[in-house]
Amino acid sequence: METYDYIVVGAGSAGAAVAYRLSADERNKVLLLEAGPASPRWTTIPIGYAKLLYEPKANWLYASEPEPSTNGRKLHVPRGKMLGGSSSLNGMAFVRGQAQDFDTWSQMGNQGWSYDDVLPFFKRMESYEADGDDTFRGREGPLRVTNPEPANPLLATIIEAAGQVGIKHNPDYNGATQDGIAMSQATIASNRRQSTAHCYLEPARFRPNLRIVTDALTEGAMLDGKRCVGVRYSVHGEKHEARAGREVVISAGAINSPQLLELSGIGQPERLQSLGIEVRQALRGVGENLRDHYAPRTRWGIGKRGVSYNDRGRGLGLVMQALRYAFAQPSMLNAVAAPLRAFVRSREGLEAPDLLLGWVPMLTELGPKGPKISHRSGMTCYAHPMRPESKGHIHITSSDPRKAPAINFNFLSAPVDAELTVRAVRIARSVMNAPAMAPLQLTEIGPGRDLNTDGEILDWVKRVAETTYHPVGTCKMGVDPMAVVDSQLRVHGIEGLRVADASIMPTLTSGNTNAPSIMIGEKAAAMVLKAAA
Ligand SMILES: Cc1cc2nc3c(=O)[nH]c(=O)nc-3n(C[C@H](O)[C@H](O)[C@H](O)COP(=O)(O)OP(=O)(O)OC[C@H]3O[C@@H](n4cnc5c(N)ncnc54)[C@H](O)[C@@H]3O)c2cc1C
Repeated sequence: METYDYIVVGAGSAGAAVAYRLSADERNKVLLLEAGPASPRWTTIPIGYAKLLYEPKANWLYASEPEPSTNGRKLHVPRGKMLGGSSSLNGMAFVRGQAQDFDTWSQMGNQGWSYDDVLPFFKRMESYEADGDDTFRGREGPLRVTNPEPANPLLATIIEAAGQVGIKHNPDYNGATQDGIAMSQATIASNRRQSTAHCYLEPARFRPNLRIVTDALTEGAMLDGKRCVGVRYSVHGEKHEARAGREVVISAGAINSPQLLELSGIGQPERLQSLGIEVRQALRGVGENLRDHYAPRTRWGIGKRGVSYNDRGRGLGLVMQALRYAFAQPSMLNAVAAPLRAFVRSREGLEAPDLLLGWVPMLTELGPKGPKISHRSGMTCYAHPMRPESKGHIHITSSDPRKAPAINFNFLSAPVDAELTVRAVRIARSVMNAPAMAPLQLTEIGPGRDLNTDGEILDWVKRVAETTYHPVGTCKMGVDPMAVVDSQLRVHGIEGLRVADASIMPTLTSGNTNAPSIMIGEKAAAMVLKAAA
């Protein structure tokens, strides 16, 4: 039996930060278990994103259950399975969310999670390499964050068009206010992806007190009564046990953290009993409260040649882009997947934006092996509510840790989500039809000019929308009967066991989820260290 002070399960956005901070004190012996391999070479090049989306060696490649809101389609649910987790294959947009998101968490009873409480951790984790107000931005953290220029004229044109419909440019949406349109801040620097594998684990990997084991599938927590004493894991089929003298931190992400709790006998009693799993702690909320962004991609043909990635990403254009990349110039090879975004309000009088629009200067067509760059010149603009109220669930269907859990998103089940999605599509249309866009000679491919009523747009959404890969909330933090962890991220009713990753978010943050997940890892580590002091 191996013995450590701390065991961290999952080396993703949050888990890498937890392991890095805990092992910074050489007196702490830390084990970090990761089910996937070291991050493959594709993760270093930002455009490698496209390849990794369907790469079975580094991606769990989950699929959702069919449901009415998807017209019975199963949605693709990629998750990183490698060092860095989903930070190693994500779209690299860096978005913290709004101050109100965290104030809401605090108002739900989670002491220590207001914006004022989490801001120091957001600052601590980053080195922001652009102008910005140091009240909000950090300069010395492990994660390098940049703010690219709109080098592509297409993006500059969209910013101008947005201004014509009242959406102003915001120089730092992670600063004082989120409102407006801006180039996506990027976890890309020096021409490479800034994953947590690169930023947190590479500097820590030679610490003698940190052991990182890859290809190590954790199969469950070991419990002694109501105390967690370690974990069971397997490497290439060989079984191991590791003991934690102090604590186990599960950071396996919003899909696998609830799976691991259920496999360990922590969850809904009837569900566990029906699978032959002994109930160690009844917690009804495990796997519930699943939230994600469900986003239709509006599609536009561009008559003007040479501006979209469809023209730039082929033949001589691609050679030029590769050369630009080689000389560290802005290029489609080192860009965020959706390089431009706008945070907007669905109606006047709202305290903060509630909708997100994101632009990808390219059209893709769905083939059997995933999306392929289209022969047609164009772009897409996805549009969705940022704080959906629809809740789904994720549960195991077997006691076998290798069997994928069932993912039910239950999208659009809250009527307000349907209403706001239609509103977001209409705002995307208004930007694309603004006068500044005229020289681009756009044609609306989807929804298409003949779909105009709310009902027609909603039917189209159900046919085409996909997630933007932000599942959260399945081990939610709180004080109500459906909460799984308390505000110190300790699993209710079990000692020595915390969950620290996107699954603890009680509600979805206003934007992408990598930055808040890393913040959660940073904050969890501080809480663990404080408890031991
Ligand atoms: C395709 C894609 C694009 C995205 N784009 C963006 C973006 O542009 N900007 C943004 O902010 N967010 C983006 N996200 C979301 C963001 O990356 C995630 O929300 C965030 O990384 C979640 O962090 P986490 O720590 O909760 O989980 P993860 O980073 O997924 O880490 C979980 C880790 O645990 C490991 N693990 C799971 N089960 C086990 C087990 N049983 N044993 C051992 N290890 C295990 C996994 O392999 C993984 O490494 C994207 C996500 C995806 C998938």
